[in-house]
Amino acid sequence: KADMAMYQAKERGRSNVQFYDASMTAVAAERLFMKTMLAQALARGQFFLHYQPLVEAATGRPVGVEALLRWRCDELGLVSPAKFIPVTEETGLILPIGRWVLDTACRQARAWQEAGHPPVEIAVNLSPRQLRDPSLVDHVRSVLADTGLDPALLVLEITEGLLIEDMALSRRVLTALKGLGIRLALDDFGTGYSSLSYLNCLPFDILKMDGSFTRSLSDAEGDNAGGQAIARAIIALAGSLNMVLVAEGVETAEQRDWLTRNGCDLLQGYLLGRPADAQAVTQTLRALEREHAALEHGDFVI
Ligand code: C2E
Ligand code: MG
Ligand code: MG
Ligand code: MG
Repeated sequence: KADMAMYQAKERGRSNVQFYDASMTAVAAERLFMKTMLAQALARGQFFLHYQPLVEAATGRPVGVEALLRWRCDELGLVSPAKFIPVTEETGLILPIGRWVLDTACRQARAWQEAGHPPVEIAVNLSPRQLRDPSLVDHVRSVLADTGLDPALLVLEITEGLLIEDMALSRRVLTALKGLGIRLALDDFGTGYSSLSYLNCLPFDILKMDGSFTRSLSDAEGDNAGGQAIARAIIALAGSLNMVLVAEGVETAEQRDWLTRNGCDLLQGYLLGRPADAQAVTQTLRALEREHAALEHGDFVI
């Protein structure tokens, strides 16, 4: 009987190994396939942008939108940026794609303005790989010139992850970008390591507290004191450094109310508006503005 158990364990072990190998090959094959498809995606017009509103916590006023890249591949369908952006970083494709995102987002922001919409800030994500592109600053300058977008309305969001790899370079490039009159946001703050050191060394204007902190304001039992203490500390840190604090991932009215009460500046998340195409987000922005105007005029009693 013991022999039998041993035999079964061996068999299982072997099939586990096989299964593991097979899945590794599948992942590698998928990445290779994605690489090939991504190389043609720009030319085939498979990229498009969604926009998600950012709302002033205290007033409910929409102040801007974040542009989020979407890829619809004929063979793979809609692929999440979390999945395909790392592949484009590996191949360097992120450079032309990133330039396309910046162009498209700035032109859209300008179109909103020209349609008589109040000026909205536009936030564009930048991959750390783009910071190492020597033509980045010139490109941002020429996009601003070509679109006529007010630099004060452009925010570039950078995830902290790789900034530390070359702190001197990061600092040089970020300072040059600031020289164009645009603003910089540190994205997903709190999820990386050594994040506090960036705040002192790099010229960020905006701190985006990662959605995981918003989520941990409460748990299954209700209020989560630990989660709230950390969020309070991040909000205080941004305040004392004169940075604007954005809370990401706001999904419930309880989260919104807690963040507003505790001094968070801007809110972003499904509760305020899901990422959507330009036309749909125009409607969302209008609705948010109407709500804000109604509150201003005291039509609602809180
Ligand atoms: P991110 O810049 O932190 O963007 C916020 C992400 O959170 C977006 O995911 C958004 O759809 C999602 N989100 C917004 N509100 C909520 C919420 O209430 N709950 C939850 N669970 N999620 C929410 P998305 O669009 O899948 O993008 C993922 C990441 O991919 C982005 O994170 C950003 O790092 C990267 N990314 C997106 N577009 C670009 C781009 O054009 N260039 C570069 N380099 N990276 C991009
Ligand atoms: Mg972002
Ligand atoms: Mg973020
Ligand atoms: Mg995030």
